[in-house]
Amino acid sequence: MRYWIETLGCPKNLVDSEKLAGLLIAQGYAPAVAPEGADLVVANTCAFIEAARAESIETVLDLAERKRSDARLVVTGCMAERYGTELAEALPEVDRVVGFGQSLTDSSPAATPVALRPSVTSSFDLLNLPRPAANAPWAYLKIAEGCDRRCGFCAIPSFRGDQRSRSSEDVLAEARTLVADGVKEIVLIAQDLASWGHDRRRHDRGEPLEALDHAHNQPLVELTRALAREVDRVRLLYLYPSGLTEELIGAIIETGVAYFDLSLQHASRPLLRAMRRWGDGARFLERIARIRAAEPEAAFRSSFIVGYPGETEDDQRVLLDFLDEAQLDWAGFFTFSPELGTHAYDLDETVNSELALERLRELSERQDAITAARRDRLVGTRAKVLVDRIGIGRSYRECPEIDGVIIVDSSLSVGSMVDCDITASRGVDLVAVAR
Ligand code: SF4
Repeated sequence: MRYWIETLGCPKNLVDSEKLAGLLIAQGYAPAVAPEGADLVVANTCAFIEAARAESIETVLDLAERKRSDARLVVTGCMAERYGTELAEALPEVDRVVGFGQSLTDSSPAATPVALRPSVTSSFDLLNLPRPAANAPWAYLKIAEGCDRRCGFCAIPSFRGDQRSRSSEDVLAEARTLVADGVKEIVLIAQDLASWGHDRRRHDRGEPLEALDHAHNQPLVELTRALAREVDRVRLLYLYPSGLTEELIGAIIETGVAYFDLSLQHASRPLLRAMRRWGDGARFLERIARIRAAEPEAAFRSSFIVGYPGETEDDQRVLLDFLDEAQLDWAGFFTFSPELGTHAYDLDETVNSELALERLRELSERQDAITAARRDRLVGTRAKVLVDRIGIGRSYRECPEIDGVIIVDSSLSVGSMVDCDITASRGVDLVAVAR
């Protein structure tokens, strides 16, 4: 029996797919080379914004056409979780729509998805499943699921549930397995990474106190240090800015991967309050300056939402000024999409989509110039490059799959860490030669 999994959306979904593949392999399935050759075809969908949902539906319909007539088509992931019943009714091509924690291989009719809001994780929880051997020298490692925050624009807590952190023992065990498979870089992910472990403290959830959490400090600090003892590189993604404590900043810098992926979303204080988020441009700049004081070569990434209800020309100017001052290495911009069940869904003062796009273009252009200048200034410096695939590598400054890359000689072995001289920049990419 063969399976095919098509994954949409973010890195967190990719990890879920790997875990689903691990479960199917344990059940006797083997991977197919294409959907046409599979007995079980799975679409792991994304429901983040309208465009992601449209892409998920298109993919499901495409898979329905490509699969063999006797193969089963199963839809899972965020969209299945959020719109399960409607999806099952609207897509007769699909054999089964399953929410998180439900069997892909059960042959009973379409299941009604169940949101994950348990106090104790079940044995079928995706977080607890094994994963197949790594096929690259880097891998995502998901350390928590769900989120305890309630940002105005975000529907994730409504269908992924409150935060449930894995134990440090589980995380370290998975990290060791990945390292044994040849992984040199582990990329930690969660919806709100900096809060990892906080939920395990709460007695009302019936879970044990975190073993690493000696003094009720931020548990992620000790986990980051423990992981850095196991693997060459540990990279942390999605850091909510108020979670960026002195201790965490210090632990990240100590690992040698001074890469800060800050989830900022905007710089205007009134708009951030309307988004029900912490901070403002001045506070973010102060934290960035503190990081640069400790590590002048730190790299920064962030993402921003444009066109949130109530956003004014003044807010746009505040964000443009912030970009000029922050000099981030990388930034992504997304237009606001009203999501059912969120605080922002019913807000007045909507920004029309053309204006939002115009603002997004203005911000992207401003940031593109900053990114290009920051890449250019690296020419003539040295970098330790992890070769990801033939001719392509990354230093600590480049996160896999989102940032630019470093072009290296094709004779360098995949998985090797090589000291290089940066000789040129090509857009967002750099060219390097081994020393
Ligand atoms: S912290 Fe992230 S996942 Fe959590 S509610 Fe806010 S945007 Fe959503």
